[in-house]
Order: sequence, then structure tokens, then C-alpha cells
Amino acid sequence: MFCVECGKEPEELYNGLCDECFLEEIDADIPDKLEVEICASCGSVKEGQRWIENPDLYSIMLERIDDSIKTDQKIDSYSFSTEFIEQDLNNIQADIDIELVTQGLKKTVNKSTVIRLKKGQCQTCSRIHGNYYEAIIQIRPTKDKMTEEQKEIVRKKVEKEVSVKRGDERNIFVTAHEERHGGLDFFMSDNGGSKKLSKNIAQRFGGHITISSKLAGRKDGRDIYKMTYSVRLPPYEKGDFVLFDDIIYQVKEIGTSSGNIVLIELRTGKKNVIDKRDSYSLEVIGGSELVKESVIVSETEKEIKILDPDDYQTKTLLKPEGYRSTGDNVLVLKYDDRILILPEKELD
Ligand SMILES: [Zn+2]
Ligand SMILES: [Zn+2]
Repeated sequence: MFCVECGKEPEELYNGLCDECFLEEIDADIPDKLEVEICASCGSVKEGQRWIENPDLYSIMLERIDDSIKTDQKIDSYSFSTEFIEQDLNNIQADIDIELVTQGLKKTVNKSTVIRLKKGQCQTCSRIHGNYYEAIIQIRPTKDKMTEEQKEIVRKKVEKEVSVKRGDERNIFVTAHEERHGGLDFFMSDNGGSKKLSKNIAQRFGGHITISSKLAGRKDGRDIYKMTYSVRLPPYEKGDFVLFDDIIYQVKEIGTSSGNIVLIELRTGKKNVIDKRDSYSLEVIGGSELVKESVIVSETEKEIKILDPDDYQTKTLLKPEGYRSTGDNVLVLKYDDRILILPEKELD
């Protein structure tokens, strides 16, 4: 037995060669350049057709190297270790030691490649930057502007809906919200859920929705519409005082599932449910800024005498239903020449 290459007579031959000549022939290869596509906006990395969010760039580069190492068929297995050297922001040199194993023999070869970090744009970001949207949810106040509190509530609802729908896949997002006409606009990437969300917002505030659509093109033989859900908020909030048929009420409940509004008639303390269709004839007279504290002079079963907080005249009022005084003072609402006792507990 001798090596056909060098003529040596080893104890064992590999394909007719001594171990040295045999190992001489085997090699591994890797392209000079590899590419990793990174979203310039969010840092996601493209793997195949998918974009990976919050990637571990180090392991992605190792994977890319692993996928790119070519060995010939004689190799049973290989392993490698890599040293990365940053050439500049977009190019990383990888020096790779590849250990090849074949027929119980080992050989290490050293290879080198440059990984180019190619800037791209993931689908999500390209949609965002392209202002892609399927639906707009508009929130509009009836007059003036939405309060910061209202805006906060709306934003939280939108965020929550979007994060629930999104789950692990980033297929829904709010592309922009701008304040227009004292309200908010949300551009939704996905029409699904937009209707429910706008209903939800309308219900929370006792508002109503108008829906409109605009033909935006055709896709797969179907007409594509962009939907607009316009939510009109009522001019009052829970706890505000309103006039209805010249009677003063406090708004006790909005956002009931029926959309109806629950009012408390201040003079009598009685509950009154207003149909949502009538809710727009409620005239708002104000909120907590109208509430004053007044001293109780005396009290009988049905009546209560108090000092007018403005002119300190004694006024006699009928006690509203369910009213029970708990101290020396009582909260009253003064409107025109009317003084009305508020329910003992602040409505919240
Ligand atoms: Zn040999
Ligand atoms: Zn991105």
C-alpha cells in the first residue's frame, strides 16, 4: 500500500492517498462578499422573505456565514469560529476558521469574507413612510377642542386595539395621528377592527359615528375602498350640567351599551334616561366650575335651608330624592336664579 500521489507507504490510505495528500485536496469555500439587509428605519433584518424585528445581528451574521460555507462532498462535518472586524459602518470583515472533518481526519482552513450591511426598508416601515392606510378614524369634538384627557383616553384605546391586533406580527399599525380641527386622526393600516374601535370610542364618550368610503383602486379584481370613520363627540362629559326642556340635569352616565344617556334631575334627584337620538338637544351649561359650597342653616324632613353662597340670603329648597346631609355644608349649583343641591357624593 502506497500513496499514489507521493509514494509514501502509510498504515492507512484514504481514497488511495496518504492522510497528508488526502487532506491537501480537501477545502471549503465562502463567497468574498455576503449581504445582510437591514431596515434603515427600524433595524429589522431580512431573512428570506421575512423581516425579523429586534434582530441579534451577531447571530444573524453567523447564520449567514454558515449558510454560505461550501464544502466538497468528502466532508462529513465541519464547524467554524469567526472573528468579526468592523471595516466601517456598513462593512464587516469576517475571518473564519473552518474545521473540516472527514473519515476521522481533521483539517482547519482559514477563510475570509466581507459582510455588507445593506440598508433597506422593511414592509412595515415602507408602508408607514408611504403613508399607506386602509382606514382613517377621525375623532372630532362638537365644539372647541377635545380636552387633553379625552385625547389621552382615545390614544390609549387606539394603542390597545392596535397592540392586541398586532400580536407578534406587525401587520397593523397607526401610521400617523394628527390633530386636525381640534380632534385626532388615526391612519389605520388595516381596516379590520377600525369600525369596532371607532364604535368603541364613540360609545365611551356618548358620541356617534358616520362612515364614508372612497374608491381607492382595484386589487385582485376587487374594488378597494378607503374607509373613514368619523366619530363626533358630544359637547358634554360625565359630571357636566346640561339643560333639557329647561330642566337642569347632571350627566351621570355616558357610554352605556345602548348609547343612551343617564341624567340626574338636580331638583328632584330623579334619574332620567335620554335616548341617544335626543342627546344632541342637550344644552351644556358647564362643569365642576359651577359648583359651590353652601352653609346649611337648618333642615327638616323635606326641606333644607341654606345660605346663598353669593349674597348670603337664606334660601329654602326641597331636598332631592335620596339626599342626606353629612355635614354643615352642601354642594350647590347656581344657574341664573336657580340654586340646586347636588347629590352628596361627587359623581365620578
Ligand atoms: Zn501521499
Ligand atoms: Zn422597518
